[in-house]
Amino acid sequence: MNPAQAERPVRAAQPVIPVYRPDLSGKERDYVIDCVDSTWISSIGAYIGKFEAAIAGVTGAKHALSVCNGTVALHLPLHCMGIGPGDEVIVPAFTYIASVNTIAQTGAVPVFAESLRGDWLLDPEDVERRITPRTKAIMPVHLYGGACDMAAIMDIAQRHGLQVLEDAAEALGTTIGGQHVGTFGHAGSFSFFGNKTVTTGEGGMVVTNDDALAATMRMTKGQGQSTTRRYWHEVLGFNYRMTNISAAIGLAQTERLPQILAAKRRVAKIYKESLAGMPVTFQQAMAGVESADWLVSLLLPPGTDRDRLMAEMQAVGVETRPVFYPAHHMPMYRREEHFPIAEDIAARGLSLPSFPALTDGELARVCEALVNSLRQQGKA
Ligand SMILES: *Cc1c(COP(=O)(O)O)cnc(C)c1O
Repeated sequence: MNPAQAERPVRAAQPVIPVYRPDLSGKERDYVIDCVDSTWISSIGAYIGKFEAAIAGVTGAKHALSVCNGTVALHLPLHCMGIGPGDEVIVPAFTYIASVNTIAQTGAVPVFAESLRGDWLLDPEDVERRITPRTKAIMPVHLYGGACDMAAIMDIAQRHGLQVLEDAAEALGTTIGGQHVGTFGHAGSFSFFGNKTVTTGEGGMVVTNDDALAATMRMTKGQGQSTTRRYWHEVLGFNYRMTNISAAIGLAQTERLPQILAAKRRVAKIYKESLAGMPVTFQQAMAGVESADWLVSLLLPPGTDRDRLMAEMQAVGVETRPVFYPAHHMPMYRREEHFPIAEDIAARGLSLPSFPALTDGELARVCEALVNSLRQQGKA
């Protein structure tokens, strides 16, 4: 133990503030009980259609298809767009691994692209540089509630005849010029994992305005069964169906989406105001973007020992999370190339507790813990 550590005041134990805790305070319980009482607990039942309609309503998409998690919500459209061996799909190096895994699961090659310094998201100019004759699709990822530059990405896609699948897993509620993310490309995917803005435990949704793609996806997610002839399977299919119980929770959540989003945006605003004088850099949205502020995330000053800072914050009851490692550092996707901006964000990024029910007192504790830990390292 060094002297600085020995001098640190010992604090009374306080309840730990987690990074996330879902708000299930609406009709979630009633709807789940209704599923159990009615015995409709599997993937047929009234809540499935209601939840799909609710997400179609929120996003403004023509079709919304429920699936059993956010990962298959990416794999299903990739597969149904005909992406497979011999194809390349461009994806940011800085993303959650599911974006990359689902491309690899089709047999296509994920081609990594750089992120932008300001919003941490896919750099359209770098996308264009990486297009080859084998490129079939682009997967922009709307990380942390931010939104990619969809105007630039769709322009590139149109000029090169490419498909676009938006990974909007973290961006339910995010709009660009009033249009919901996930509806700019040919399809968009959402996740309802426990820490996402709307949760169903595990769950996902694919949205699209393309009637033919929607019909293919609906058939494929249910074992490729013909819609008119039972046990007649016309295409290779999967079982990617959501349960009625999950949809029941999702419907109750979506009914309160405006309140959940308002609470999350308030949390983000308070963090930004409270930490305004600190040498930290928040993810910045481009003009016209209204972020859902999924997880409030920032870059620590260069040279900060992030692990030590996180351990110190944990010691005073504040949980934080590092951002994702870049995909090209993973053993199965290792590349010789460098992505300096993606690597820098990955090395310095930190997510703060961002759940809707955070109180003013808890937010103040998080900020105090962060500032104190920065001071310990001479960074504030
Ligand atoms: C959560 C997430 C997914 C996958 O969702 P699951 O529901 O966990 O399978 C995909 N992409 C991104 C960016 C995510 O954050």
